[in-house]
Amino acid sequence: MRLAIEEHLKCSEFPRVGVVVAKSGEVLSTGYRGETRGVHAERIAIGKLTNGQVQGSTVFTTLEPCVVLHNDQEIDPCAQLLIDSGVSEVLIGVLDPNGTIYSQGYRKLLENNISVGFFQ
Ligand SMILES: [Zn+2]
Repeated sequence: MRLAIEEHLKCSEFPRVGVVVAKSGEVLSTGYRGETRGVHAERIAIGKLTNGQVQGSTVFTTLEPCVVLHNDQEIDPCAQLLIDSGVSEVLIGVLDPNGTIYSQGYRKLLENNISVGFFQ
């Protein structure tokens, strides 16, 4: 949790987002927005791992995972990425204050049988 916030503080792009992927109490990877230009933190952190590592993991993210915003968006939004990756639990720092996303990422995860909680 604290690590997700530290990653969050490294962000050079806004909104700042920090992500930590953990399993069995062990940190597998971290990511923050801006680490790779234009790539969301969730995708960065998951991209560092194999499918097997991500399966059943817990993802801490300081900001709610995004959902589809534009129909012309080429890559899947982060909420979909987390679902497709087999993550079993997502802990969110804050819901996205952006009104079009607010609680939608949260609900999408829940609808796909991912356990969702909050920290801080
Ligand atoms: Zn995203």
